[in-house]
Amino acid sequence: MQSLVAELERCLGAGGLVSGETAAEQAFSPWTRLGKPMAIARPRSTQEVAEVLRSAGRAGVSVVPWGGRTGLVDGALAEGAIALSLERMNAIEEIDAVGSTMTVQAGCVLERACEAADAAGLFLPLDLGARGSATVGGVISTNAGGNRVIRYGMTRDMILGLEAVLADGTVIPAMNRLIKNNTGYDIKQLFIGSEGTLGVVTRAVFRLQAKPAAQNTGFLAVDGFEALPKLLRRMDSELGGALSAFEVMWPEFYELVTTEPAAGRPILPPGHAFYVLVEALGADPEADGERFEAVLAQVLDDGLVVDAVVAKSQAERDRMWALRDDVRQTARNGPTVVFDISLPIPEMQGYLTEVRQALTARWPKAQLTVFGHLGDGNLHLIAGVGDPKARHDIEELVYRPLQARGGSVSAEHGIGLQKLAYLSTSRSPAELALMRTIKAALDPKGVLNPGKVLG
Ligand code: ZN
Repeated sequence: MQSLVAELERCLGAGGLVSGETAAEQAFSPWTRLGKPMAIARPRSTQEVAEVLRSAGRAGVSVVPWGGRTGLVDGALAEGAIALSLERMNAIEEIDAVGSTMTVQAGCVLERACEAADAAGLFLPLDLGARGSATVGGVISTNAGGNRVIRYGMTRDMILGLEAVLADGTVIPAMNRLIKNNTGYDIKQLFIGSEGTLGVVTRAVFRLQAKPAAQNTGFLAVDGFEALPKLLRRMDSELGGALSAFEVMWPEFYELVTTEPAAGRPILPPGHAFYVLVEALGADPEADGERFEAVLAQVLDDGLVVDAVVAKSQAERDRMWALRDDVRQTARNGPTVVFDISLPIPEMQGYLTEVRQALTARWPKAQLTVFGHLGDGNLHLIAGVGDPKARHDIEELVYRPLQARGGSVSAEHGIGLQKLAYLSTSRSPAELALMRTIKAALDPKGVLNPGKVLG
């Protein structure tokens, strides 16, 4: 193994490889387990990425791609492996204002890419809590979702093309910039959402959108679950498709993010059954603002909403989003298990009642905190039972009821290592067999992020 480290040091040059104790020290993330990698390779070019993969392949050592290391399913665990960090490949190569595309390297932090699009008068709609650390390569490899999926889709819907390096070092230049291109298999899709098990994403072409001139944000209180889907439908149709976020907070979540030691304070009084953050993006600041307030007045009149505040400034808008983003508060009462599930909206209430009852039957002091992107059918559940060893049993209670309700064990966080045992509850045997065929074809020696997704 010393010879592999020496070979990579030669190939990557000064600062290109971190090994030994330094690598172990740098392998830290507050979000996810990273293990102790043999070394952290920091290539500066696609060719260097290919070199790392070829060298590691010859030595029979695994390679685990690293982005911002903000994943939540241990997809970047690199115990004994070469961690392949794209951090030095972070350039924004081009913004094409006519074609509305951005060509960017995988190590670029998402927030920087969004700011660059904004500065060019365009819009990269992908937005999530980890925006300041997550990288372009990471959001592509995990097909990240986030806060505007209801309007703009997942990462998959924003990617026109990409470049990836296969396990044997072959570079796949699929840097398509066309919106319409039906020329055989859509190869980029293999690398989007496959969590670094089929190839290392090195560059990408984003499809950008028109920059919204108007952003209207409201914070609403709702007193019954049955009002939520009705409210969602009303807002979506009456805002003419401008609705870009419909984030729901259950009362336990709202209490955690509005009380000490959290920095946030209540925007609406506590005690309601649900709090909803709604946002619309449009083109006309004056008319869109009036429309937004008129729609809110109607839903208040109709009783779908019992209280509402509209943000009158960017600071007020930030205050609303800060509550939704302050997910760390859910961990303040001891160890928790974090879930990211999907299910049809009509199934949600029954499902949550079932999970809550099962948890408290087993652990009378169990806490279940719920919030999520209701418009996408995506809920985040945070379960704490005061026993760090209970993880497996909690997972069983949360995941098992999903299959019968047509749900998914992962809406946007991926499978990584944490959900391996439950992948088969969301995918059919034939689908799993096809996934294994694809993995074997692209990475026959099992070098790339081994053990993740398919086990
Ligand atoms: Zn989320």
